[in-house]
Amino acid sequence: MQDWIPLSTPSLQGNEWHYIKDCLDTGWVSSVGSYVNRFEEMIREYTGCLYAIATTNGTAALHIALQVAGVKAGDIVIVPTLTFVATANAVAYTGATPYFIDADPQTWQMDSDVLFHFLEKNTEMKENVCYLKSTGQRIAAIVPVHVLGHPDHIDDVCSIGDRFQIPIVEDSTEALGSTFRGKHVGTFGLLGTLSFNGNKLITTGGGGMILTNDEALAKRAKHLTTQAKADPIEYFHDEIGYNYRLVNVLAALGCAQMEQLNGFIKRHHEIYATYRAELEDLEDLGWQGVIHDSSPNHWLTTIQFPRAIELLSYLHLHKIQARRFWVPMHRLPMFSASPYIQQLNVANQLYDNAISLPSSSHLTSREQAYIIRTIREFYGKA
Ligand SMILES: *Cc1c(COP(=O)(O)O)cnc(C)c1O
Repeated sequence: MQDWIPLSTPSLQGNEWHYIKDCLDTGWVSSVGSYVNRFEEMIREYTGCLYAIATTNGTAALHIALQVAGVKAGDIVIVPTLTFVATANAVAYTGATPYFIDADPQTWQMDSDVLFHFLEKNTEMKENVCYLKSTGQRIAAIVPVHVLGHPDHIDDVCSIGDRFQIPIVEDSTEALGSTFRGKHVGTFGLLGTLSFNGNKLITTGGGGMILTNDEALAKRAKHLTTQAKADPIEYFHDEIGYNYRLVNVLAALGCAQMEQLNGFIKRHHEIYATYRAELEDLEDLGWQGVIHDSSPNHWLTTIQFPRAIELLSYLHLHKIQARRFWVPMHRLPMFSASPYIQQLNVANQLYDNAISLPSSSHLTSREQAYIIRTIREFYGKA
């Protein structure tokens, strides 16, 4: 019997064994060792960002990035409703309230027009700080998510941030290698974040990274992720910190994965191009719009399909691991008290009809041809 074709699983064909063996041979497996520095250096060099701080996962990176950006309990943080739950959870960890913005129908990213109109109508500036008029709460950050590795309208979001004096913290956890006007996403805002979870473009098993060009913020992020230890020898800690540092043995995995990143991105572009070429003639498909002058990493090909839920069952019957899109954040029970700002409720439509297709770097042409044939068969266009 044929095995399931997975949605997005790692390729570990490089120096992974070699580097991990090195950690085991030398005993440097934990919170100290050279691979963490090397991994951070590789990310800095690749993204062009001045500072990179490795963390236990992308959610921890978001949590600390928000805290370092100044988000405090009682504040409001703006996030898209169409995202993975970690974005909203990280806001909740700080004690702030997430406000959810609907998706743009073309790009599926946070709708920057909806965002702008919301801020213009409902907020007021006092001494360069933006407050919600109705409650007096501070709008402490905007978190654009580069959905599915496609760059968001990051220049629009940044100019909205400038106009209302709100810091931008990018959730670029899915977007390693994606660029806008030749510059890596995650490096536009005050801070950016990456994830190296097993389903992402490169993996450390679990891991994340905080990006920033601001030295003071980088130092503070490093401090907070390492228990806020303020003395090199003594156990003196000057605030409540976290044990969020990535361990050396996992960073070793990250170094080996980074060496293969360009090949992974090339492969993801091929996978996307093949889906596009072989499915484009089917009627009423919706493809995520690519923003002008941007280059997505095409991490996970996702398409709006007619009769999507039936198609999903059909694919599962054929052992193809396809997935529905995220349940929008405003529909989750723990966020039911958070406002959802929308005009056309695009996020709900995307939840109803968008399906992610297998997109791992190791997906073979044969497997992809089988997936495409199965989809065409479902629509009677085989
Ligand atoms: C994966 C992901 C995260 C969280 O990263 P982890 O490493 O799994 O904690 C956050 N936001 C989005 C949009 C993600 O896809």
